[in-house]
Amino acid sequence: MADQYDFDLFTIGAGSGGVRASRVSAAHGARVAVAEEYRVGGTCVIRGCVPKKMLVYGAHFAEDLEDAQQFGWTIEGKSFDWVKLRDHVQTDIDRLEGLYGETLGNHGVEVFRERAEITGPHEITLASGKVVTAKYILVATGAQPQRLEFPGSEHAITSNEAFHLDALPKRVMIAGGGYIANEFAGIFNEFGSKVCIVNRSDQLLRGYDESLRDRLLQISMMKGINFHFNTTFKSITKNDDGSLHVELDGDDDQDVDVVMFATGRSPNTGGLGLENVGVELGDKGEIKVDEFSQTNVDYIYAVGDVTDRVQLTPVAIREGQAFADSVFSDVEPYGVDHSCIASAVFSHPPIAAVGMTEGEARNKIGNIKVYTSDFRAMKNVVAGRNERSLYKMITNAATDQVVGIHMIGPESAEIMQAAAVAVKAGLTKADFDATTAIHPTLAEELVLFK
Ligand code: NDP
Repeated sequence: MADQYDFDLFTIGAGSGGVRASRVSAAHGARVAVAEEYRVGGTCVIRGCVPKKMLVYGAHFAEDLEDAQQFGWTIEGKSFDWVKLRDHVQTDIDRLEGLYGETLGNHGVEVFRERAEITGPHEITLASGKVVTAKYILVATGAQPQRLEFPGSEHAITSNEAFHLDALPKRVMIAGGGYIANEFAGIFNEFGSKVCIVNRSDQLLRGYDESLRDRLLQISMMKGINFHFNTTFKSITKNDDGSLHVELDGDDDQDVDVVMFATGRSPNTGGLGLENVGVELGDKGEIKVDEFSQTNVDYIYAVGDVTDRVQLTPVAIREGQAFADSVFSDVEPYGVDHSCIASAVFSHPPIAAVGMTEGEARNKIGNIKVYTSDFRAMKNVVAGRNERSLYKMITNAATDQVVGIHMIGPESAEIMQAAAVAVKAGLTKADFDATTAIHPTLAEELVLFK
């Protein structure tokens, strides 16, 4: 194939989307190279989903150890060592990074561990000065935390740095009310930090069903997390003892040890040379692509967060797979179906959702039925933990088809993955009802809605 080029495919960025696209393209027979300036694995593996989930597990022991006493256990001398957890997490991340590198190597993908820039048609220049050519270029450079700008904002960290903190901060202020804010608020709070969330509006987790967002807020407050809504930042100054003085607009000043921005993620499109070849960008700097992940420049494609379609790892992986199959195999080119994607927020407790929220369903369908189950998990009852789960099913009243399921409560992400199959497949509430419950479980609520 295309011998006038050094490679059939040059991928910029070895994250979830880039690695999948590269190794599958190579498996289809393409000569592939990938450039990565940081660490192979990308945000998800190195400083996102994976280490975050490990911290979530670590954090949850705080509750488990407390609850264990109601189950007859005596726990003496319990203590938490942040540095130990942090280092164990990083050791496993190193292992995973190695595996990702091995996968690329096993598929014969050449890895350049340096920055790459598009310097002309089909031409890439690496940081070392080496120039290579490729028939196709795939941009899979992901996104980076968006930092707010105000006097002293340089004192704030992002989730990137949160994984490497020298010590557990006593007081943490988190800016934003989305995924990362709620997940890290839960993590730090369980570890014993005093946590507050500062959000520009009074809406948490926009896009999720309102009842669940309200329930999370209520439970989070009960657990001790403070919320400052309709509040923005004026300034941060460093106190003599190294702590931070935060001046807020809309609330009292606060002294904290760490301020963390969790205010969205911006596509990494700067310095890639996209302007050299005329790749079109959207308003947020994202690469504009069609359903096949192809840009306006016919030999350049983009997948994952850099396209700002749905910023989720499994979506980037699917986009990478579809690109590789469509361009380098003989299947009919296909795109990724971005509808009805199940998602979860690993807060304490977690939220999971698939399909339309009640509000969306009312707007789009009109005639809907809403079923709810508001219950206390058996384990919480015995533990004396006053924390209720909430499950919600939304159906199209005319057809009985389930168009949305929303859950907050223990293990909701684990339960949702299976339920999402049914919703994606277009099953009806009668199909759910016809399924015998597994008793006693949390998930049985899904087939017992009245
Ligand atoms: P989110 O989009 O979830 O939330 C961003 C938050 O920051 C919102 O509350 C938003 O407010 C606020 N915000 C945005 N811009 C500003 C601004 N200029 N000033 C003040 N506040 C602002 O982003 P995250 O950073 O939490 O996460 C990024 C993405 O990563 C997520 O969207 C998700 O796709 C992915 N992710 C997924 C996870 C998972 O699957 N469990 C976990 C973590 C991340 P407003 O609502 O008003 O816009």
